[in-house]
Amino acid sequence: MRKYVVTFIVAVLIVGGAIFAWDRNRTPAAEGEVVQKTPALAQQNSSQGQQKGSSDINGASSAKNNSSSTASTGAKTASGAPTNSSKTSGKTDFVNTYDVEHVVANPESMQVLVNKTYRLPAGYIPPDLVYPNVPFTFSEKIEKRKMRRDAAVALEKLFAGAKKDGVSLAGVSGYRSESRQITLYNNYVKRDGVKAADTYSARPGHSEHQTGLTIDVSGSTGKCAAESCFAGTKEAKWLDKHAHEYGFIIRYPEGKDSITGYKYEPWHLRFVGTKIAAEVKSRSITLEQYFGNAVPVSK
Ligand SMILES: [Zn+2]
Repeated sequence: MRKYVVTFIVAVLIVGGAIFAWDRNRTPAAEGEVVQKTPALAQQNSSQGQQKGSSDINGASSAKNNSSSTASTGAKTASGAPTNSSKTSGKTDFVNTYDVEHVVANPESMQVLVNKTYRLPAGYIPPDLVYPNVPFTFSEKIEKRKMRRDAAVALEKLFAGAKKDGVSLAGVSGYRSESRQITLYNNYVKRDGVKAADTYSARPGHSEHQTGLTIDVSGSTGKCAAESCFAGTKEAKWLDKHAHEYGFIIRYPEGKDSITGYKYEPWHLRFVGTKIAAEVKSRSITLEQYFGNAVPVSK
């Protein structure tokens, strides 16, 4: 008899627990979180899993239709890309292609999102470009040595922090003007074709380097500068571990190609400030996932 009573109590607990869990799951927006799942989201997540560690960008083309289908509301925040990605879930159906184009309304913000979907206004030049006082892989005082003031100050601290840990870094390429990007991109297209060029070089207006908040970094020898062999070096490991402490993120993480639109680039640092950097790092998300569709756009 006692055995039956115990069994009964256990059964009640299990059923009760299941109902409780079910009820929690169906309560949406507990913390302002959007829980509207779409088929696109599911597709995105599964291709993401398979793609981990691979550097190709197949996911982008397979999901093209999703981004175009949501593109036409003309809202003041971005409508063409993520339909619901939430700041708290870290999930998004964002697929980053040139099929949809928005012009960001906040190009001068430290939090500006620039990628294949979101571009800078034509001819944008950042307001406060300076030369960060750090070593570069070249000695000329030229455009690509520049960054915006806040990013430059943060970069100097990052380089000093690395040095303390026995890691010597060098800048490879910082600010890049739109006209320079036009030249570079056109050359890549001539050499490799549009499809290949789009996987590693931004179209003019779509380069994060034009924000002045981005820099490619290498070891002080310049070996593997902006090349895939930089991955796994002690410099890359240090950056992965510590960049967020200085307000930078690894902007194109491994396995997130279809979200960022780019292959893994362990050398490409983007300044976003320490608060966002810490969150992006701790949740292992991309800037696209952080902002979701809350991106102010003018077009
Ligand atoms: Zn870069």
